[in-house]
Amino acid sequence: MLYEGKAKQVFATDDPEVLLVYYKDDATAFNGLKKGTITGKGAINNRVTNHMMQILEKEGVPTHFVKELSDRETLVKKVQIVPLEVIIRNISAGSFAKRYGVEEGIVFDEPTIEFSYKNDDLGDPLINAYHALALKLATAEEIETIKKLAFKTNEVMKAFFKARKVDLVDFKLEFGRLRDGTIVLADEISPDTCRFWDSDSHEKLDKDRFRRDLGNVEDAYTEMLKRIIG
Ligand code: ADP
Ligand code: UDP
Repeated sequence: MLYEGKAKQVFATDDPEVLLVYYKDDATAFNGLKKGTITGKGAINNRVTNHMMQILEKEGVPTHFVKELSDRETLVKKVQIVPLEVIIRNISAGSFAKRYGVEEGIVFDEPTIEFSYKNDDLGDPLINAYHALALKLATAEEIETIKKLAFKTNEVMKAFFKARKVDLVDFKLEFGRLRDGTIVLADEISPDTCRFWDSDSHEKLDKDRFRRDLGNVEDAYTEMLKRIIG
């Protein structure tokens, strides 16, 4: 094992350019302050992530996905993670609503993008592109590529979820560099990292059920798996 994070473990393989990711049921929120278990989450997030990565790949977004090995294990291309959490929003919610003093549920005319500096000790602070350049987290060209790929990902995912009666509220992406410097989409796309609202009832079908103690957490993850994979 090379690394154990809050939701996944990362292992080396015989191929130096390939890693094995294992998805756990552990859940955390508020920068690790709240801890718990969501039974079956690891298997759901593994399958959901791989499904979305394969769709995105077909639509022209390069990803780290290589091969699903089992319920909870996937091979991915090893990348050097760009230490930015890239957040796209279509509807106001979460920290956006709190920061700007607006209600949740305002549908934006255009999606927004923001970056957080991926640094647990600092609590992942909000950062702008100039700060990211000053801190040498990425080059200007890499930031442009990341923005383009993040908005493209949003267009593909928004349409995909709309067809499944789900509003894609917001989500977090991580990008990384392959050995040759190519920027690819990495990490995961799941109910842990996206806000999903049922299009009709506006019921929350994501990690907010855990964060906010809304109950039926496992049911929400299972429902999203069903809508995505059928
Ligand atoms: P965290 O580190 O935030 O607790 P996880 O438990 O999800 O998150 O751990 C997975 C770690 O693996 C994250 O730090 C993520 O940035 C990293 N990662 C994701 N995809 C890749 C990849 N293809 N190559 C290298 N590291 C990756
Ligand atoms: N998000 C994430 N990891 C983080 C922070 C945010 O996956 O460390 C996701 C979160 O699930 C939501 C989106 O990014 O879909 C926007 O989160 P927000 O900034 O509103 O923060 P939160 O309300 O989660 O504190």
